[in-house]
Amino acid sequence: MPKSLQCKDVGMNCDWKTQGQTEDEVLKKASEHARTVHKMNQMPPEMQQKVRGAIRDVR
Ligand SMILES: [Zn+2]
Repeated sequence: MPKSLQCKDVGMNCDWKTQGQTEDEVLKKASEHARTVHKMNQMPPEMQQKVRGAIRDVR
């Protein structure tokens, strides 16, 4: 089942969202986005946890 993530669900004031086939794919896109847009060079583990918690199934 495809997965989706909204940046604001992670607590950011941001309208970005993404989709992927797996949680890992979404996480990868999210870290790319965090690096380019939020200037987060590396996502700290607690942030990754937050992102995983915010990932939703697409119906
Ligand atoms: Zn964002």
